Amino acid sequence: MDLERKLDILAPAAGYEACDTHSVAGRRYQSKKASWSNAPLGTEADAKGKPRPVVRLLMSAECVHSCPYCPLQSGRDVPRATLTPDEVAKSVMPQLRRHDAGLLLSTAVADSAEQAATGLVDSAVLLRTTHSYAGYLHLKLPPGVSHALIEAAARVSDRLSLNIEVPSAAHQAAIDPSRDWHRDVIARLAWMRDFQQAGFLKAGIATQFVVGAAGEDDKALLDATAWLHRELAVRRVYYAPFQPIAGTPMAEQRATPAVRGLRLTQADWLLRHYGFASDEIVGADQPLLSLYNDPKLDWALRHPEYFPIEINTAAPEQLLRIPGVGPLGVKRLMRMRTLGRLREPAHIAILGAASRRVVDFVLFDGVFFGTGHTMRQARIASLRPVADQLRLW
Ligand code: SF4
Repeated sequence: MDLERKLDILAPAAGYEACDTHSVAGRRYQSKKASWSNAPLGTEADAKGKPRPVVRLLMSAECVHSCPYCPLQSGRDVPRATLTPDEVAKSVMPQLRRHDAGLLLSTAVADSAEQAATGLVDSAVLLRTTHSYAGYLHLKLPPGVSHALIEAAARVSDRLSLNIEVPSAAHQAAIDPSRDWHRDVIARLAWMRDFQQAGFLKAGIATQFVVGAAGEDDKALLDATAWLHRELAVRRVYYAPFQPIAGTPMAEQRATPAVRGLRLTQADWLLRHYGFASDEIVGADQPLLSLYNDPKLDWALRHPEYFPIEINTAAPEQLLRIPGVGPLGVKRLMRMRTLGRLREPAHIAILGAASRRVVDFVLFDGVFFGTGHTMRQARIASLRPVADQLRLW
């Protein structure tokens, strides 16, 4: 098979790996028609947290495993190809230069985790040495990879990832008992954390859930996410909604709405940047996120006792709980407060369109200017069929 044909198989297949642009389309397991030359770029945060375009490429679409949700599982009749490290380097360098992009390189497991990871590391070394590539490099390693290969990968990468797929060993056993969740996944992520803490992996560690494959609820996913951030220092968690694939054991299982992936990403954002605990967002009594409202608005609507708050005296962490106010908005409000009292909605125009939502949750020097508009909008949204919201992002 010539190189061009291989790339036209492998570049679209890499779209199964979620990153920002791709995951928002929620198309992890849909077939892609894009060829290598016009493959869509993804987006990832680099070592400084700045979003940058990434070229995604799968090194091999041949796999000995049979993860039941995966279109590349062993024995399924799909186009397969494998690149050598030389072919990877030769193919990606023109694309990286053309787009001034980083690279996300992943692979299926044609033989063993060691063989698959060796191919990724050899490709990365070739790029870094022979081709003097100094840009962003993210390697996605397979479960079960050895400590030695994780170290070798950490030495040449900005980011490493390994897909967790499900939130617990019990969920893993339910869908694919051949994988040991603690040994093959969590222990490997812990090794990555250790290399990150030793000064490698400036762009951190990432992982990915396939949402809904194991019948898990959002509480299980968010509790696991909070633990991943806290204990394993995972910087970024992606949520790829499960899509049934013909010819797989899960072909008859219902697809997960793409909007659920969006809500989980928003809830994760609340954990990382807004000081929320996972049990404030979802609890045993309410284990699923609202599909209709974003989780912060949903929390605010469920806690009327918290609002309205006085915008002139509220602490920064209280301001951060107001729907429509993010960390940047808090900084702006605090700066505005040094200039004088905020007495009317026009005084928070610096928040832009979000200020219209904010007025329903605050007092300006003791005066409420809200109209309940936000609540009405939330109610209207909740009446819409979820299907209408599948392609929101
Ligand atoms: S190891 Fe990866 S590529 Fe292979 S079947 Fe599992 S998810 Fe798919």
